[in-house]
Amino acid sequence: MTTARRIHPWLGLAALPRLSASQADAYQRSRTAERRRTLSGLTVTLAFLYLLYAAVDVLILGDVVLLSLGLRFGLILPLALALFWYQAAPARPIRAKEIATLAVAIAGNLVWCIILAASENVAVLDYYYAAVVFQMVVTIALRPGFDLAFQASLVVAAINYGFIGFIEGVTPGYVAYHLAIYVPCFVLTLIGAHQLESERQRAFLQLHENETLKRELSKQNDALLRLSSTDPLTQLPNRRGTEAEIARLRRVMQPHELENSALLVIDIDHFKAFNDAYGHGAGDECLKQVADAMRQQLPGTVHLARLGGEEFLAVLPIAERAHAAVLAELLRGAVSALAIAHGHTGDENRHVSISIGAACGSIATEACLSRLFEAADTALYAAKAEGRNRWRLAEPTESERECDLGRPATDAAA
Ligand code: GH3
Ligand code: MG
Ligand code: MG
Repeated sequence: MTTARRIHPWLGLAALPRLSASQADAYQRSRTAERRRTLSGLTVTLAFLYLLYAAVDVLILGDVVLLSLGLRFGLILPLALALFWYQAAPARPIRAKEIATLAVAIAGNLVWCIILAASENVAVLDYYYAAVVFQMVVTIALRPGFDLAFQASLVVAAINYGFIGFIEGVTPGYVAYHLAIYVPCFVLTLIGAHQLESERQRAFLQLHENETLKRELSKQNDALLRLSSTDPLTQLPNRRGTEAEIARLRRVMQPHELENSALLVIDIDHFKAFNDAYGHGAGDECLKQVADAMRQQLPGTVHLARLGGEEFLAVLPIAERAHAAVLAELLRGAVSALAIAHGHTGDENRHVSISIGAACGSIATEACLSRLFEAADTALYAAKAEGRNRWRLAEPTESERECDLGRPATDAAA
């Protein structure tokens, strides 16, 4: 969580949150986007109001109408147009645009003071209280950062009180009244500007922290999903991982590609006897070695999973029968080449071996998949029955052909 940078309990100010360098950077970026959208619109509104006040000059200060119109339309209007053009450049830093906007507002204040100082009308004394409007413009209306608002406030105050001596009929008592209005306005608008910035930063931080949390949560979810679909012993995908992979294949592959897939069901031979003879620890080690050896033989496109116990499944997307046979022989050879001693096979083989049942067909639907799996399983039992340490490829049955032809899954499930 963030810590507070400054606390002004005596002013009732909310502390500005302490931003790290990267947070400050991100805050400036998010602020820039918002300011880009609003600064030009704000300039148009303020320039319009400023020019409108020429009418007030005409009504109240009859003796300086020409000066007022000349300066407002001859000087401030071109300045506002130039500012509008300056703000339009997207690459220009937002702080530079804010400084330029404040500068034009200050120029407007200066011009207003010149007009009022030039007038000899007594009404100018009442009108001069409107000086507080410029204080409001540079703090609350333009909403620059607090530091800029503060500096601009000092300049505006210096202009307003620099000119007050030139206003017709000013007395020390009038200055005291003026200050009685101006000073609270000065302090309160700055408190408002500080509050605004503090709230803006807090809202940004809240959003930033929420997004960090969301990212963290999604990372943990991914890790959890990976864990729950991985077999901890062999690090191969488990049954859940296989389900996810089949679902993915169904999403990314064309239907005709799904119809030309192959499954290899792989089972370690006489594994119970191995466990009984050498212990469960040696059995686990054997499972790991067999899994590693098989994984190394298969291309990355082939999904190899541990289904449970000493049984594995390979899913070959887009595989001809010949391809399935080649891979089955490759796997059988690789496990055999491990030469893990097994003196209790009950036959002439003295090493750990695997038997494989393979079947080619469609994995497009659950019904087709389970049919293909059954066919591969049947082929596996044929391989076992024929003496183990071998592979068998299932002949396509009529019902599997129906699956390949894309018949509805419902009759395939029967
Ligand atoms: P077959 O050649 O017919 O496949 O005979 P088998 O003994 O391999 O088959 P069976 O299904 O009778 O025995 C499987 C054995 O696998 C039973 C169990 O002790 C062992 N097993 C299953 N899971 C694990 C495991 O996670 N670790 C170890 N060490 N052994 C396991
Ligand atoms: Mg077995
Ligand atoms: Mg088994």
